[in-house]
Amino acid sequence: MALLTAARRMILANRTLLFSLVMISGLLAFSLAVVARGERRDGLRAWAGAMGLESLAWVLISVRGAVPDVASILLANLLMVAAQAMKLVAVYEFRGLPCPRWRCLLPMLLMFVVIAGLDYDDFKHRLIYGSLIYAAQMVLLLDILRTDTESRKGRAWWLLFGATAIVIPIFALRALAALFGVEQFATVGSGVSPNTIQVLVFVCVIALDILGSLGFILMEKERSDFELRTLAMTDFLTKTLNRRAFTERAEQEIAMAQRVGAPLALLMIDIDHFKRINDEHGHAAGDAVLTEVARIIGAGVRKQDTLGRYGGEEFGVLLPATDQAGALVLAEKLRSTVENMQHRVGAKNISVTISTGVTVCLASCATCRSDLNKLLDDADKALYQAKHAGRNRTVVAPAGCAIPTN
Ligand code: GH3
Ligand code: MG
Ligand code: MG
Repeated sequence: MALLTAARRMILANRTLLFSLVMISGLLAFSLAVVARGERRDGLRAWAGAMGLESLAWVLISVRGAVPDVASILLANLLMVAAQAMKLVAVYEFRGLPCPRWRCLLPMLLMFVVIAGLDYDDFKHRLIYGSLIYAAQMVLLLDILRTDTESRKGRAWWLLFGATAIVIPIFALRALAALFGVEQFATVGSGVSPNTIQVLVFVCVIALDILGSLGFILMEKERSDFELRTLAMTDFLTKTLNRRAFTERAEQEIAMAQRVGAPLALLMIDIDHFKRINDEHGHAAGDAVLTEVARIIGAGVRKQDTLGRYGGEEFGVLLPATDQAGALVLAEKLRSTVENMQHRVGAKNISVTISTGVTVCLASCATCRSDLNKLLDDADKALYQAKHAGRNRTVVAPAGCAIPTN
């Protein structure tokens, strides 16, 4: 009980509260600015700027009475609105979108008109209009956050979204309370003993500010984690899955096919005489052809299929729920698309063909169902046969995954 009273007394100690607000926002601004130093354009610097502006605003509020009202009231409120506008810019930057200017400037203009138009002693109306403007700014922030893709809405996103959303009813209640009982409020400016409600509003707002800032920083972290994971799975040249990721996916697909009892087809596609293309047209042309072939294969398969670069000029395609006939149709479609395509590299037209080995893991085949290596091996053997038979063709390994030896 004594502890509670002491805590309440400390919170209500005006100078302590204001000093804490200056420190918290100042330190957040400093640490974010340090982390965001350099060329990062993902919104961290704008968020650091926002916290810096907030810190300045708190400094001005804490010297209210000692400096002219124009600084401690008008300028402080303008800085506070500018800080929220900067947060909006930060979220737009994070999304890689330009922030519509009116969303930043209109609230600042409104705050200027309201405060400059009111008497500095008209605390009641300043509270009402000020609270509504801040609440509107939070709505704008929620609006841009809301349009994020579902995949981006991780836990950090919810932290920022939640912290922003809770501020809105707090400001709305503050406006209502001011409307119906202004005597409940006293300014938190220095030298005046503040009202408990007013203090609680400030404490809640700064707590949510910290939560929101943490949410934004962690959103950045979640995104860079995701980008790193994607990078580790992607082939640099063709942007398809790399061998490791493809193999991992194949293991998962086999397990899934096994569970649902559906067939799983695997195509191993190899560009014919690719070495010649490199030799005759140069390595860069070879790279361009490789990328183009990957694009054609990627565009020709279904959404649920998986394409990966298995080796130098060799691609693997996993086709869930596909039998031999279906896999053959697709392989032939890809083969003829590549054959009919003229790859223009600089002034030259380069034509290429592909050979494909097809194998199907039948739901009834116990051996291959449990063994990715066997599946890959069978597809490789079928591919070898296609090469041996003259290239630009598709060979299907017989059902049961055994290539006849002849
Ligand atoms: P085959 O029809 O029997 O498949 O003949 P091939 O010439 O396509 O096969 P080979 O295995 O002899 O040569 C493959 C070539 O692919 C050799 C290698 O230099 C080239 N290669 C592998 N990776 C890349 C790459 O990333 N870029 C380029 N430009 N060439 C690559
Ligand atoms: Mg080849
Ligand atoms: Mg090869």
